[in-house]
Amino acid sequence: MTQGEYNPYVSAQTQFNNVADMINLNQSARELLSQPSREIHFTIPVRMDDGETKVFKAFRIIHNDARGPAKGGIRFHPHETADTVRALSMWMTWKCAVVDIPLGGGKGGIICDPRNMSDGEQERLCRGYIRAIARNIGPVNDVPAPDVMSNAQHMLWMMDEYEVITGGHYPGVITGKPLGMGGSLGRTEATGYGVIYTLNEALKTQNMDIAATTASIQGFGNVAEYAARLYSQLGGKVVALSTWDNQDKKAYTFYKNNGLDIEKMAQIKDKFGTIDKQKAAALGCEILDGDKWISQEVDILIPCALENQLTPETIVNVSDSVKIICEGANGPTTPDCDAFIKDKGIYLVPDFLCNAGGVTCSYFEQVQCNMNYFWTKEDVLEKLNIKMTQAFAAVHEIAVEKGLYMRDAAYVIAINRVAQAVKQRGWV
Ligand code: GLU
Repeated sequence: MTQGEYNPYVSAQTQFNNVADMINLNQSARELLSQPSREIHFTIPVRMDDGETKVFKAFRIIHNDARGPAKGGIRFHPHETADTVRALSMWMTWKCAVVDIPLGGGKGGIICDPRNMSDGEQERLCRGYIRAIARNIGPVNDVPAPDVMSNAQHMLWMMDEYEVITGGHYPGVITGKPLGMGGSLGRTEATGYGVIYTLNEALKTQNMDIAATTASIQGFGNVAEYAARLYSQLGGKVVALSTWDNQDKKAYTFYKNNGLDIEKMAQIKDKFGTIDKQKAAALGCEILDGDKWISQEVDILIPCALENQLTPETIVNVSDSVKIICEGANGPTTPDCDAFIKDKGIYLVPDFLCNAGGVTCSYFEQVQCNMNYFWTKEDVLEKLNIKMTQAFAAVHEIAVEKGLYMRDAAYVIAINRVAQAVKQRGWV
């Protein structure tokens, strides 16, 4: 979703090139890793409920699979673009590498708006997507998952279509499936919880006690909701939440000075994260403009929505009270905004580290599917916490040791791992 002059693919390449320069990455590795290795662009004709056929445009893009099968979600969004999917596929490569799981990076997208489609139409769209790429995906080459506006039910329809085509049971073809159908306990919570596991580590480095902090969150989809839940359980106070209202076609910020009750807020949202304004007012929330989340006088900002939210234009609204930014979304900060974050002395937990909990749990889901033996939720979350904490520690350590900005430190680790894999395989 290109917003203003910002193209996420250009942002992803800029970030990569900066660090490639820093680590003197050789020319061939640089050429290979600065772009996707394979792209499929296709159309999906779907018979709509009114009998008409609508044709949807879709993508599956593999950035790199040197460290293992490509991995990454499929986004459903009316403003999806090939360049956004390219950027997200790159970020998936770095994400899997920074948490050191044996997977590569890929991403999919369908230009559609599931909010305006019936269940039947969505099912036919999901099945059409898989019919088009069944030969290219699979547990050993490319494994999709949910992302923005796609969910466990979509994944199950997709798995079912794949199994109908291939004639076997392949639960490892896709992750984020429902429980009892190859899904993992903890997958729903994983991305949001992972954000808070890394936040907790960041707070330790700043000698801050989570129970004495306040936060403002952008988004109230799956990632934001579970981040907010765990953060409040640990004693933090979420004073503001901003979310898109699909009826009004604009965002609102829900504010409560003494902290929002996240459980109650979750009860008054629909499945796409839109909060019922009347019910929110009845809960004592002030309803402010959508962009007010960014200017709150809080300790922590957690953008969990889309790309390009923190820009040189919006960063001036960030309060001096903010000490930490945790990027729950993919690409919420534009490259030209990083200098401002550094200048303000804000500690950044960069996106592909901060939100790696989802794909890490997807990896656990695959492992459990392969064994056909499923772990308890406690087991999953404990393993997740260990992985996220280790990844955070490695990035923080190199940032301190080499005096690097956290985003660059995460890139140094991820690019080095992938560069080593492509070199060892003899690709470059
Ligand atoms: N869509 C999630 C992400 O951006 C999860 C991907 C996955 O589980 O493969 O990290």
